[in-house]
Amino acid sequence: MLHDITLGLVYAYKILVVKVMNLDHNLTKQIEEICAARGVRLTSQRKQVFELISSSNKAASAYELLEALKKNEPQAKPPTVYRALDFLLEQGFIHRVESTNSFISCCSCNAHKHFSHLLICDKCGDVIEVQSEHFISSLEDNAEKHGFQITNHVIESHGTCQICSSEINNETIEEDYAR
Ligand SMILES: [Zn+2]
Ligand SMILES: [Zn+2]
Repeated sequence: MLHDITLGLVYAYKILVVKVMNLDHNLTKQIEEICAARGVRLTSQRKQVFELISSSNKAASAYELLEALKKNEPQAKPPTVYRALDFLLEQGFIHRVESTNSFISCCSCNAHKHFSHLLICDKCGDVIEVQSEHFISSLEDNAEKHGFQITNHVIESHGTCQICSSEINNETIEEDYAR
């Protein structure tokens, strides 16, 4: 059991480390500029946590981020990551995926505060952020009818992403041929 957990962590860590190589430097540059304009400090740790999240192709948990961060910052502790996450959430650079308690980078981090609809793949952990003003305003209209004032939305859908469902289809076809 413990072995399984360790293997899982090593795997998650590898994904994060490998993915940092695919980092989009423009995104980092963009948040650096936003922070400078807002007069907030993007410390090296905050920046590294952001880069780990934005370069990962799946939502990353705080624990995975800590393990990956330790590579450059061996002294990093859980509060280091939580503080960095709080900052990034507050600035709107990342979103928390509530149902899996993990984090993704925002697809429009320079935009105003917004609510998104998250499509979460249960097979690969990929999360797609969909922004639909229309959808959110329809939810707000419904709430208004009940005199209800919305302060926060958590709109998350679970399922299978396009890549994973095409893999499932291919497997089924191969199985059919094997018969
Ligand atoms: Zn967003
Ligand atoms: Zn998937």
